[in-house]
Amino acid sequence: MKLTPRLEKIASMVPECTCIGDVGTDHAYIPAALIERGIVTKAIASDVVDGPVLNAQNTIARYGFANHVEVRKGSGLAPYAMGEIEGVIIAGMGGPLIAEIIEADYALAQSLNFLILQPMIGQEVLRAYLESHHFKIVEEHIEVEGEKFYEVMKVTAGEMMIDEPFYYEIGPLLVHQTDEKTKGFMGHKLKKYEKIYRSVKENASQDQGDYLLEIERKISLLKELI
Ligand code: SAM
Repeated sequence: MKLTPRLEKIASMVPECTCIGDVGTDHAYIPAALIERGIVTKAIASDVVDGPVLNAQNTIARYGFANHVEVRKGSGLAPYAMGEIEGVIIAGMGGPLIAEIIEADYALAQSLNFLILQPMIGQEVLRAYLESHHFKIVEEHIEVEGEKFYEVMKVTAGEMMIDEPFYYEIGPLLVHQTDEKTKGFMGHKLKKYEKIYRSVKENASQDQGDYLLEIERKISLLKELI
């Protein structure tokens, strides 16, 4: 089963295991691919909205995986019992929502061997939440689709310390990676901050001095990293 690059990257970060959950599964493409590839023997695909639950059921029926993938309706981790899954995927949602989902079933989230998280926005909010709630990012990768960059992280219970504020946004592990996709991501951030810098400078009033200095600092950090 062929997945889009973003979904493929998420699937590739799932270790072999018995049972995994996919929160906000929509079409259940990742659980279906993981079963087809023999990475997991069972999966639970959940979503809070009827339409995506139906999409998931259709995919599972089409591939004949009804004995391997169970589709459940419910919010976040609520449809999962403690001990039932070894890891979970929460992908394609905002970082703040992912943090809320983890916080709502904190004991269950802490009990998992791994969480694969792929926030679409608000990545810095999610990383700050993880740091202050005893989770650590153990692996992180960038995937690219067209002009868009996606951050995919593998997280476990544990401690991490992010000592540079800008790393909440650009990823404390990504800053040490030199592959082309990560370099592209850093280059994209650099262009964004150079554009903001020019625009703020053109319209600058005196009290924007600190803001400009902060943007300059981010630009020079990004230049060092690239
Ligand atoms: N995970 C898939 C992916 O990465 O392509 C689908 C992402 S889709 C953009 C977001 C899905 O999350 C939707 O199907 C939506 O119904 C679901 N969702 C949003 N909030 C949720 C929650 N609190 N619990 C479970 N699912 C949720």
